[in-house]
Amino acid sequence: MQPVFDRVYYEPAALRYPLGQYLRERYDSLPWIEIENHNNIPELRAASNRDFARLKRHLIVGVRKTHRYTENHKVSDFLVPYTSSGCSVMCLYCYLVCNYNKCAYLRVFVNCEEMMEKLVRTANAAPNKHVFEIGSNSDLILENTVTNNLPWTIEEFARRADGKLTFPTKFHMVKPLLHLEHRQKTIFRMSVNPQPLIRKIELGTSPLPARIEAVNAMCDAGYPVGLLIAPVMLVSGWEELYEQLFKALRNTLSDAVRRTGFLEIIFMTYSFVHRAINEEAFPSAPQLYAPDQMVGRGKGKYRYKAPMLSEAESVLRALSAKYLPEMRILYVS
Ligand code: SF4
Repeated sequence: MQPVFDRVYYEPAALRYPLGQYLRERYDSLPWIEIENHNNIPELRAASNRDFARLKRHLIVGVRKTHRYTENHKVSDFLVPYTSSGCSVMCLYCYLVCNYNKCAYLRVFVNCEEMMEKLVRTANAAPNKHVFEIGSNSDLILENTVTNNLPWTIEEFARRADGKLTFPTKFHMVKPLLHLEHRQKTIFRMSVNPQPLIRKIELGTSPLPARIEAVNAMCDAGYPVGLLIAPVMLVSGWEELYEQLFKALRNTLSDAVRRTGFLEIIFMTYSFVHRAINEEAFPSAPQLYAPDQMVGRGKGKYRYKAPMLSEAESVLRALSAKYLPEMRILYVS
């Protein structure tokens, strides 16, 4: 499972880096279109929402200029802008759409050595061991099928830095990671949802059974692992859908994952931008906006109303206690 691109937009400076050269050769048969700035490609910005799926077939190659870390207080201590932002697939609620709108296509940044230097420096200067989230802007397992960055990232950090890396994914292509010298310094988190919702909403991602096999394999390979039940979608029949999910997890997660892994539970948020893009680009997709169940929370974003959230949290905690009692819930948000 890897993206099929139809053209590449690139900043000329990117070709001065080994990864830029590698991508130039790898995608040599595609049209390469020069751009000034990966953040602003006028012809793509001018495209209509209806073109969203077509835009997702483009690959953007650039140099990352901003490297500011944001404090975080969940699994990680800092969110780190890393080697990509955006993504080639199309989950209908994708949080990156809020930031990049219809320009949520995959952008790959070739100055990975600079980003690693900052990571190592920051990790080694910290008085406590920090956890760095490197996958909040993209899906690094999918990106890895394009760049092969991840084995280098995991081994380089393990060899040189104190602390840990972490990233979530919705993909199963973990084979290149299974035999690395990771020294348990990368926490692998697999995002899961009921298979009927994956099929209808998380368009282009790996099916549930493949995701479970991947997290089992990563745990067997010695990585610390977790599961994100996320984002929880309170669609019609959600109680039954999520009970089926917990049953599937109970039956197919390995003993080692159940014994050592943790859970995060995160409810879906949605936005005005999602509504606009999805209504035009995916007119026959299921409607995720539920005006009677959601409230605005500023900047055009919506979340489920408090009573619904509280009821759903109780249901999910009960399912977790029934089917995965060994796994600790780190937080529900
Ligand atoms: S896989 Fe992740 S980054 Fe890609 S569209 Fe889905 S939610 Fe967004």
